[in-house]
Amino acid sequence: MYTSIWKETLNLISLEVSYQEYNTWLSQIHYLSSDDKSITVAVPSKLIKDIITERYLKLINDKINNLVGKKIKLIISVNSSVSSKITSIPGTKGNKITKKINPRQSMFNPKYIFDKFVVGGSNDLAAAAAKKIAENPGKYWNPFFVYGGVGLGKTHLLHAIGQTIIDMFLEMKILYITGESFINDYITSIQKGTMNSFRIKYRKADLLLIDDVHSIQGKEGTMEELFHTFNTLYAAKKQMVFTSDRPPKELKKLEDRLRSRFEWGLTADIQPPNFEMRESILRQKIQEEKYTVPEKVIRFIAENFTWNIRELESALYKLFAYHDLVHEELNIDLAKRALKDMISIKSIEDISIDLIQKKVANAFNISFSDMKSKKRTKNIALPRQIAMYIVRNFTDYSTTEIGNEFGGKDHSTVIHAVTKIGNKYENDEMFKSRVDRIIKEIKQNL
Ligand code: ADP
Ligand code: MG
Repeated sequence: MYTSIWKETLNLISLEVSYQEYNTWLSQIHYLSSDDKSITVAVPSKLIKDIITERYLKLINDKINNLVGKKIKLIISVNSSVSSKITSIPGTKGNKITKKINPRQSMFNPKYIFDKFVVGGSNDLAAAAAKKIAENPGKYWNPFFVYGGVGLGKTHLLHAIGQTIIDMFLEMKILYITGESFINDYITSIQKGTMNSFRIKYRKADLLLIDDVHSIQGKEGTMEELFHTFNTLYAAKKQMVFTSDRPPKELKKLEDRLRSRFEWGLTADIQPPNFEMRESILRQKIQEEKYTVPEKVIRFIAENFTWNIRELESALYKLFAYHDLVHEELNIDLAKRALKDMISIKSIEDISIDLIQKKVANAFNISFSDMKSKKRTKNIALPRQIAMYIVRNFTDYSTTEIGNEFGGKDHSTVIHAVTKIGNKYENDEMFKSRVDRIIKEIKQNL
């Protein structure tokens, strides 16, 4: 019943957890059966069941419930005859595990290769440089530093480099690690008194790939170790590649000497994809999943998910799941329904300023007329600014028109409010969740 829901659930989860985690734990889950209320899966051992239950059950349940639209129970059974794909699992000595995948390869997601990386104006420099480096590590730019926002393909490129090198240079010692794991590795080595082997491990690498290196900012000991590792590898002409969510000069809490080293080689950015590129990416994923999706629907998704490729991909998986669930023709209407809670309101229906003003006023316990008044007291000004922000982001009204609807405010006042609330929204978690709750309320009233 829920076979494809299960598949799309895993697809969505694979976008959120690291490939190593996915490969080690989640890929051990085998789908068995499902009925209206539950999905039954099997894993090879009790230990794996415990770990999955503890670390991933909530995530899995959230995804399934969100896709199906109601609570579905996940039943995990243990069955040692369902084979395990990987060579070794930390802390599971004595478990019989069949060997299938080469451990050298298991750190990389087989989907993240150059052939599956769509190249366009937003990432062409990064992609071209990555390819050259992969064909000739240590010869061109050292280090290669790739930066860009979330979900734009940094990890994909890094894995593509790693996998190309693994295939071509069999003898090379390759280290792929996230900034976060590098910190943890450092801390553990200090606690266990194994700093020596920590140093040897990193300084003897032939290729060092660090994903999300921005996380080591402000971690003094870790930065120091990376600095020395860098110097050793650099002198030995060993290739290093780093990814980060921002360029070196904006890594404010990084030591200067490390920051300047990050800039010694080539720095390339990845920007959000333009419309044509988003369409090509969607087409490629659709082909991979062997689906048929009408052009109009592809365009609809490409128009609505503009700045994050991971979201673009999630939208597609969600659409597939919804389609399989309702068994209706895959058209625009179906896509709108499937993706309703993922896309901004204006693309679904016209939304009135009135509705936004009412909902925000309600949430802050002020009256609708106060919202539209000129009053400047703080308890009214803040909700009014929030309402302006929501109107600006979710409708097509100009700032002048918005000003008119809020007690005849000047357009520059509106711009000020929108910027101020936007900043607070980005930087204040509590505030963000409060505003998100209001936005959700508004959507439910459409
Ligand atoms: P980041 O590390 O920048 O947050 P990822 O590399 O994890 O982003 O990419 C998010 C998702 O988008 C991945 O599934 C990846 O395969 C996909 N993706 C990103 N860029 C491209 C691209 N240019 N072509 C095809 N898929 C891409
Ligand atoms: Mg990443």
